[in-house]
Amino acid sequence: MDYSKLYINGQWVDSKGGELFDVINPATESSFAQVIMASELDVDCAVQSAQMAFKTWSKTSSSERAQWIQKLVDQLKLYRDEMALCISQSMGIPLHMSAEVQVDDPIEILQSYVERTALMDEIKQIGNAHIYKQPIGVCALISPWNYPLNQLMGKLGPALASGCTVVVKPAEQTSLQDYFVAKACDEIGLPKGVFNLVPGTGQIVGNALSQHKGIQLVSFTGSTRAGIQVATNAAPTVKKVIQELGGKSPLIIDEGCDVQAAVNYGIEDVMINTGQTCTAYSRWLVHKKHIQAVIQLAKQKTQSLKVGIDHDAFVGPVVNAAQKQRILKHIETGLKEGATLVTGGLEKPDGLDMGYYLQPTIFSNVKNKMTIAQEEIFGPVICIIEYENQEQAIELANDTHYGLAAAIYAKDQATGLNIAKQIDAGMVYINGASYNIEAPFGGMKQSGNGREFGDEGLQEYIELKAIHI
Ligand code: NAD
Repeated sequence: MDYSKLYINGQWVDSKGGELFDVINPATESSFAQVIMASELDVDCAVQSAQMAFKTWSKTSSSERAQWIQKLVDQLKLYRDEMALCISQSMGIPLHMSAEVQVDDPIEILQSYVERTALMDEIKQIGNAHIYKQPIGVCALISPWNYPLNQLMGKLGPALASGCTVVVKPAEQTSLQDYFVAKACDEIGLPKGVFNLVPGTGQIVGNALSQHKGIQLVSFTGSTRAGIQVATNAAPTVKKVIQELGGKSPLIIDEGCDVQAAVNYGIEDVMINTGQTCTAYSRWLVHKKHIQAVIQLAKQKTQSLKVGIDHDAFVGPVVNAAQKQRILKHIETGLKEGATLVTGGLEKPDGLDMGYYLQPTIFSNVKNKMTIAQEEIFGPVICIIEYENQEQAIELANDTHYGLAAAIYAKDQATGLNIAKQIDAGMVYINGASYNIEAPFGGMKQSGNGREFGDEGLQEYIELKAIHI
């Protein structure tokens, strides 16, 4: 694969002035690939190509688009192992977990939009008004590095299904799997200009896309900081912005629940992907009756997880040196703020001198006002906070400017549901409920605007037109 090219208008082309970026493997700290960072001129070309393609792609029938998406799904499956390897080498998830965690779900998400193309044909009637749907236009899809293919598929599926054309910008560190998506589009003969790939930096490509007059929608996933910049840059051209941003999600471990199950669920949820999951339940709110048991069980479970990159490792390195430093700084802050270190800390994990590894870390005696309980750490760090009663648990859960996800372990479903209804979060999981790619995904408050996945994800790419007869 030649990562020095861009994919624009159905062709692999050279950048007009872009520079190569070293992709560093976080397990070895050395560069293993170079990828082009596109220029503003490249963005212009990509947008023009998507605008041209929109004229015909937006007029295709829903069944034609369904066939194209199905072809793309089938072609992408051929590259499952290559994409799993790229993602593992680029952001650190151990290879033995990469295909399942980072590739299979995303392809399923794309698959889920094959049949959803038909939703575009539904016409709602209210009195004399007939409400038609049309695709919004050219969309910029900007993704982060933590689940790079997942974020792309959650955007590409509905965009293609609705009849939109796209300009894709992956995160600098994790551009490689997107080359396989472009390759697959090329191999199936997707009409030229429907899918355009311009890897690049947030400051150049991200800003140019957000400001571009030729783009009608930016679907952005990343930090709240960058999401605000995108919205600010997009405002003068009145384009739509969907923001999937950060989180500081609570796990409530309530009186009378299955404490062992809650702890296992919570530790695995946070430690998978080395804590670099937007929905990670990194803020545990524990009923005072269970606090000692939870601390002991969490310590045992955490210490049983192997840190490394081998076939039996669960916790890989974090994505890069800067992220490692940021997380260490948070751990230092936690110690300074007076939280108690249950396990982990500032030292390197034993035997791992190379690679951006950290010890999975748990703090107890955390107060919800502490920095470590308020800021998204985005690493393998859990804060344990004690509460007295359900009312206080709900108050603490909502005492954050984020509102992405929450999990509850309660003595029964009815108790869990009663708590869930009072939590300000886009997604709530009760007693270990599994993740469902058909349900709307997204956050409240500063965790974002809009939803991805399912019917609601498609809705974001649609303009409604009321024709009065
Ligand atoms: P980031 O904000 O630094 O970067 C995300 C993407 O935005 C990258 O492609 C980056 O190049 C681009 N970008 C940066 N500045 C930009 C700008 N000014 N204009 C346009 N694009 C710009 O985030 P990250 O560190 O890559 O990802 C981690 C963050 O993403 C965490 O906060 C995490 O919670 C969040 N996230 C949220 C979800 C969700 O669905 N809510 C999912 C995954 C990750």
